[in-house]
Amino acid sequence: MPRLVMKFGGTSVADMDRIRNVARHVKREVDAGYDVAVVVSAMAGVTNQLVAWSKEAAPLHDAREYDAVVATGEQVTAGLLAMVLEGMGVNARSWQGWQLPILTDNAHSSARILDVNGAELIKRFDEHKQVAVIAGFQGLHKGTGRVTTLGRGGSDTSAVAIAAAIKAERCDIYTDVDGVYTTDPRVEPKARRLDKIAFEEMLELASLGAKVMQVRSVELGMVQNVRIFVRSSFVKPEDINPRSNSAGTLICDEADIVEQQVVTGIAFSKDEAQISIRRVPDRPGVAAAIFGPLADANINVDMIVQNTSADGATTDLTFTVPSSDYERARITIERAKAAINYERLDGATDVAKVSVIGIGMRSHAGVAAQAFKALSQQKINIRAITTSEIKFSVLIDAAHTDEAVRTLHSLYGLDKN
Ligand code: ADP
Ligand code: ASP
Ligand code: MG
Repeated sequence: MPRLVMKFGGTSVADMDRIRNVARHVKREVDAGYDVAVVVSAMAGVTNQLVAWSKEAAPLHDAREYDAVVATGEQVTAGLLAMVLEGMGVNARSWQGWQLPILTDNAHSSARILDVNGAELIKRFDEHKQVAVIAGFQGLHKGTGRVTTLGRGGSDTSAVAIAAAIKAERCDIYTDVDGVYTTDPRVEPKARRLDKIAFEEMLELASLGAKVMQVRSVELGMVQNVRIFVRSSFVKPEDINPRSNSAGTLICDEADIVEQQVVTGIAFSKDEAQISIRRVPDRPGVAAAIFGPLADANINVDMIVQNTSADGATTDLTFTVPSSDYERARITIERAKAAINYERLDGATDVAKVSVIGIGMRSHAGVAAQAFKALSQQKINIRAITTSEIKFSVLIDAAHTDEAVRTLHSLYGLDKN
């Protein structure tokens, strides 16, 4: 029998009605002849609540205990869905990460999957036609025997890893939108669904802020060659014919996309903070004096801009860090003040990064220049820029994020077919 992984996110399992709806989607595929492994998220809002409680319990809590708390959300959904499926006459059993097991490294709260054992699932498919309902987001560190979690949005990664382990024909990611759009449809209602997107582009979209897929799930899909199809759980299960094409987005190899556009999508992230170090002596070793301590503190620096200070004799260095690392980055730089020898440190957290992504940029010049012009016409000031082969990003005031996204979306014709 062909095997299928079906993953349902938090909004898709938000209450009992929606869990029943999910069960009908699962039954449809079972009836169509698939051996199905379902991966579920916690019910909408549950993980946020668990995270908030952990912070309340102790702001600097032990990550092992954080995992013990936040992993519970998925366990509830898995059990409930298995019960509902059984009630519908579908043989089903729930599984937690440690039971399969899904083995991870020891990086509590953002663990990486090392190995998934799909043997027992396959045995039960073959012997009992039993559907596996697996709690997403969680794993087990073998050495310590402790539960780990995979980082926010990690159920996507659980699903892709399981699809690879059981050699599933496809990994369907059911969510609250019917695919991957040219940008977040909540910000630009004119955004269009993409029928296909290349792994590389999806990887950039996800890592630059589009939360529709967790970055690691796309990485894993690319490496393990998993066919990932993003689709909506809100389409009525009865309206879908499993044998014909449904609405959604296939994440696939670049070679499988016939008509490649120059720009495929726009992503944005408000999870950015800017630090500017003013009036640094312009001498060899300055960048090392600044970025060395940041690297030692495990702080990821993203955009970097260097320009001459107002006095003409020294230099200003601006860079961005994730907003969660902002305070740590400031303190790290202040501690290194003597070695860097700067005059002043300015910081801002009300900034956003807007990024334009497209494989076609490899062979087209001037794509970014068009954006700079369009943004200047909207009087949106660019604080920093980075570019790479298939994307560029601009740092702007957070207040202009939506406007910038819409401006660029229309500039590259993404609202038109
Ligand atoms: P789930 O709970 O199913 O995992 P998420 O909330 O993690 O769902 O991801 C789905 C959301 O991602 C959508 O509701 C949408 O607002 C957002 N999103 C951001 N960028 C995009 C995009 N380019 N295409 C589709 N959805 C996007
Ligand atoms: N429940 C987890 C979260 O909210 C994992 C997931 O939904 O993918 O981040
Ligand atoms: Mg998600």
